[in-house]
Amino acid sequence: MTAYHLTGTLRGSELDEAWIVDGRIAWSAPRPGMPVTEISGWIYPGLVDAHTHPGLSRTSELVTDAEVVRRLEACRAQGVTLVREMGAQRSIAGVTGSGLPKVISAGQHIARPKRYLRYLASEIEPGELPAEALRQLARGDGWVKLVGDWIDRTDGADSDLRPLWPREVLIDAVAAVHDAGGKIAVHTFATETIDDLLEAGIDCIEHGTGMTRDHLIEARDRGILLDPTVRQVATFPEIASHAVNYPVYRERMLAMDAVRAEHIRMMVDLGSHYLMGSDTTDDVADKGMTVELPCAVEDGMPASVAMAAASYDGRRRLGLPSWDEGAPADFVVYAADPEKDIDVIVHPQAVFIDGIRF
Ligand SMILES: [Zn+2]
Repeated sequence: MTAYHLTGTLRGSELDEAWIVDGRIAWSAPRPGMPVTEISGWIYPGLVDAHTHPGLSRTSELVTDAEVVRRLEACRAQGVTLVREMGAQRSIAGVTGSGLPKVISAGQHIARPKRYLRYLASEIEPGELPAEALRQLARGDGWVKLVGDWIDRTDGADSDLRPLWPREVLIDAVAAVHDAGGKIAVHTFATETIDDLLEAGIDCIEHGTGMTRDHLIEARDRGILLDPTVRQVATFPEIASHAVNYPVYRERMLAMDAVRAEHIRMMVDLGSHYLMGSDTTDDVADKGMTVELPCAVEDGMPASVAMAAASYDGRRRLGLPSWDEGAPADFVVYAADPEKDIDVIVHPQAVFIDGIRF
């Protein structure tokens, strides 16, 4: 297996240089005589797409193995070496493998009937939530994905985003998952949901557009992760445009979009614990992390914050190694500094997964 010598700017590290030997990170040079290929540039631990869906289908048919591979290869081309799958109907554990980004799966979305997108979720009644959360935990890799709020269409023109779960049920479900060693990530747009989520002790907030300043402070102080999915949130006007029969909901979505950049800057100023996620499915080649990060920067997130959150900070927050000696050699290399020009990330010079160069 080819060995590499990494020099240049090793972001997220105090090291001046490092090596890849036998697919792992080494802090010292390999034995004399071993051929070493030089790699220089702006080098980051491989990007994490913390919210994508390689195994998610938008129809009643499961996605094929070939489609899962296609989506993961698209991630890899964007410098992503690990994805956190935030909900899918099928397991992709048997599809992933050598040379593809690693996957942390959260099982299938959990929602209530008619309270999420059709076909996607395991639909249950609130009393079943703790048991269902444990069932999904067993199907995944330590995470569970819950839909926290969604439009409730039973109120005619007054229909609006509403929480799916009573607080007591959330508390029981989170406790059950934590007791089993797992973590819970929750999809939420609505302000009304957040107090219950914080009170229940959830681990990660997806989207989080309804969070007030106080919510953000509380989440930060409790170490709760936050995945702002900036590009997805920028589609709120499009979502609103389809909600012709629901003016209250439409206005709320537009109002959240109007403060989108302001909200991102508030998260930055308060020091939120970011993950960066593209919230993509079959569109990951067009809307993956190489779109998500420029969107975040455009909305006011400093490129250094976005890159750290997508790379070494995000990895640490998920319990993954970065530059640790002996860790799997998962890296992305750029020819220029993405923290000076974020668009540099569109064309990585090299991507390494387990020391294999792509
Ligand atoms: Zn999603």
